[in-house]
Amino acid sequence: MPMSFDSPFDRRRLLGHSLAAGGLVSLSGCVSGAGGPAMASRIIGAAPSLAPMRASVDRITDIKVCLRPFRPQGPRLDTEMLGDTLVIHNYGHGGSGWSLSWGSAEVAVGKAAAALPDRLAVVGCGIIGLTSAVMAQRAGMQVTIYTKEVFSRTRSVRANGSWTPDSRIALTAPAGEAFGALWERMARFSWKSFRSYLGLPGNPVDFADNYRLSDEPFTAREEEEAPPPGKGSYASTGMPQDSSEFASYGERIADITPGHEVFASGSTPFAAPYVRRSSNMFFNFSTYGHYLMQEFLENGGKIEIREFHEPGELAQLKEKVVINCPGYAARDLWRDSKLIPVRGQTAWLIPQAEVHYGIYTNNVSALSKADGLMIQGFNGLGDMEGVGDSSELPDRAESEAAVEVIRKAFMGFKFG
Ligand SMILES: Cc1cc2nc3c(=O)[nH]c(=O)nc-3n(C[C@H](O)[C@H](O)[C@H](O)COP(=O)(O)OP(=O)(O)OC[C@H]3O[C@@H](n4cnc5c(N)ncnc54)[C@H](O)[C@@H]3O)c2cc1C
Repeated sequence: MPMSFDSPFDRRRLLGHSLAAGGLVSLSGCVSGAGGPAMASRIIGAAPSLAPMRASVDRITDIKVCLRPFRPQGPRLDTEMLGDTLVIHNYGHGGSGWSLSWGSAEVAVGKAAAALPDRLAVVGCGIIGLTSAVMAQRAGMQVTIYTKEVFSRTRSVRANGSWTPDSRIALTAPAGEAFGALWERMARFSWKSFRSYLGLPGNPVDFADNYRLSDEPFTAREEEEAPPPGKGSYASTGMPQDSSEFASYGERIADITPGHEVFASGSTPFAAPYVRRSSNMFFNFSTYGHYLMQEFLENGGKIEIREFHEPGELAQLKEKVVINCPGYAARDLWRDSKLIPVRGQTAWLIPQAEVHYGIYTNNVSALSKADGLMIQGFNGLGDMEGVGDSSELPDRAESEAAVEVIRKAFMGFKFG
């Protein structure tokens, strides 16, 4: 069964890593990015010293459900006039909204700046609205955010929050090459923007090692996980039927994407015989959100709690340029039937400051973040998990099963 995740273990990044059975390394299958160096894999024997994750169901403090706002064509970034108001759309970022936020904001603010407004309105205060607002301020505009909910109550903070810039961002067929180029621009701009948050107090943006555990050598699994792109029946159904339909652009930024290392069998604290390590960026929601809000307010930004019921209400705002960032809610507000919900659920366990890594095993990922040990299960469905499902009710049994998988991964763990 193909797998892909809102986690550092995205199968599409594995395509360039050809590992011979038993852990021998081949560099021949490495992928070269747009002018960048190939990603490489190598074997290392040194065992990392790790503190164990304390995964047990009694340590679950929260279960969060989120809907990825997925559009087969990719996010909506076009403009339209409502009377004398210019509306710039910025919604529909699937499982990549956190990762692409700055790049997408740069595109939207560029369009706004061309109209030379002093004042700008932003609809929505999720990660897309907030970064759009901050970018507009950095470009010299006075900004008011109109939103139903403040940042800490949005769907954005119910996500995983890792660098996953091409997770369910589009389908290959309708998105096309032109979107690939735009995606690359957004991904690169975002990557650079996130780097300025590294090393700040509270670690708003951070990197962690991620260990992929397996009972089998990786070669067979990788081939299984990498179906040829572009197959499927999107055109006939309007809804993806198969994970191979999702667009993958990872090779375009291979030069800024860390590769992975393979451990010699038995040389890690884990009982699993095959272990591979990669490094990935992730976002700590509380501190990162705090930094964004602080910058927005310090630069004179205003927030008005308001719910819009139809597009025409935006034309009543005093600002005549509006960046529209309602996320999945655009399906109703803008009657955008192209928006497809992709449900996802995460369990949050008591934070463990002594643990600074993630693992992926048996379709479950766990990542230790400042605000909790986050565990996300995929039921083996990968990209197709939650497609078309708009239920935002937590399913505790699903989370308990995922926690149990992580608990078992630490049986036989060698500590110290
Ligand atoms: C389980 C899961 C894991 C994920 N993991 C990752 C990840 O690891 N990395 C990554 O990059 N992405 C991830 N995503 C995707 C990411 O969370 C989304 O792409 C992103 O949150 C979308 O942000 P947004 O600002 O567009 O929408 P939202 O967060 O939904 O914000 C919408 C805003 O609009 C406001 N609004 C809505 N309707 C109205 C209205 N009628 N009037 C006024 N205001 C309104 C809301 O109040 C809110 O402020 C994940 C998603 C899920 C579900």
